[in-house]
Amino acid sequence: MPRISQLSRLAPIAARRTYATSRPPRVLVTGSLGQLGSSMVDTLRAKFGRDNVVASDIKKPSDAQRNSGPFVYADVLNYKALDKLVVDYGVDWVVHFSAVLSAVGERNPALGLDVNINGFQNILEVAKNHKLRLLSPSTMGAFGPSTPKDNTPDFTIMRPNTIYGITKVHMELLGEYYHEKFGVDFRSLRYPGIISADTPPGGGTTDYAVDIFHAALKDNAYTCFLKNDAMLPMMYIDDCIRGTMQLLEAPKESLTQRVYNVNACAFTPDQIADEIRKQFSSEFKMDYLPDFRQQIAETWPRSMEDNAARRDWAWNPQYSTSDIVSVMLKKLAPVYRNSQVMSQMAAETAVAQ
Ligand code: NAD
Repeated sequence: MPRISQLSRLAPIAARRTYATSRPPRVLVTGSLGQLGSSMVDTLRAKFGRDNVVASDIKKPSDAQRNSGPFVYADVLNYKALDKLVVDYGVDWVVHFSAVLSAVGERNPALGLDVNINGFQNILEVAKNHKLRLLSPSTMGAFGPSTPKDNTPDFTIMRPNTIYGITKVHMELLGEYYHEKFGVDFRSLRYPGIISADTPPGGGTTDYAVDIFHAALKDNAYTCFLKNDAMLPMMYIDDCIRGTMQLLEAPKESLTQRVYNVNACAFTPDQIADEIRKQFSSEFKMDYLPDFRQQIAETWPRSMEDNAARRDWAWNPQYSTSDIVSVMLKKLAPVYRNSQVMSQMAAETAVAQ
């Protein structure tokens, strides 16, 4: 297992692949201002060049985001606008990140249905008409209460009872259908909860596993909206982006299916709180006040079996739970340098020296 300090130096497999074609692909990223989008855009630009990656969203980008390469307004509910965008920029590949996540979808089902179903159908039609490669992520939320919970296989019972899960099953099946029927190069991977420090999460059931670090550094205490023993699969953003690039770039011939499980690590709120106590502060206090997100979490797997991803495109996550805690604390500590908790800890360290 590489140490955290070594991880950033590991070249992703995708980064070592070269292109037979004379130019790199032009890639459109929808929903690029979300939790995953900005890291994905940075990685794509590093690989294919700044101007070959068009970032898009319906939100306003920061100056830094606007200055880092082409950015356009694109509502995925507007088919004509997407069509024009693909023609104007000569797009070859689409990474479709626009979505309404699980918790927001339960609060606003009509919005979830609209963006996740109509938005995806628009993107799929554009991909069909312009022969694009389309990567659109799915989620462990596509599974449901009757799915086997441990080592959940790629092909199993899929009867989710959330709007988010229902729309993602629709996406998976429709993508597979367009692949079979029209030859669309549709690719998808079922992410677990994604943990990142640079961009906030967008309203999912696993958001607690990001919020907890901010709360620890700021207040040395956190009230969790899931129960203490809610075990869920999780993944650090660098693994997520590396895996997404691997699937995006995988040669067509290596893919034996269109949708893949990807697993990395899993923990309960209790376990991550213990790890924070070990690595940051033995005084860290965790309370529990479960809300509607606990019911969603109870329908999801505790771990996913991902042999096909490992075999077909060399999926190989690097970050354990303890690595994630270490890197999150390291990245977020400077943000909270002036918080009472951090100042007190710095003072205690100075006295001890
Ligand atoms: P997010 O909520 O952080 O970002 C989604 C983006 O989509 C937002 O920037 C939003 O402005 C944009 N958007 C919403 N409506 C739109 C519309 N009509 N047109 C264009 N853009 C619109 O989501 P994320 O966490 O970055 O997720 C990206 C993808 O990964 C989604 O498909 C999601 O289902 C999947 N996923 C994420 C996680 C996770 O833990 N973050 C887990 C499993 C799957």
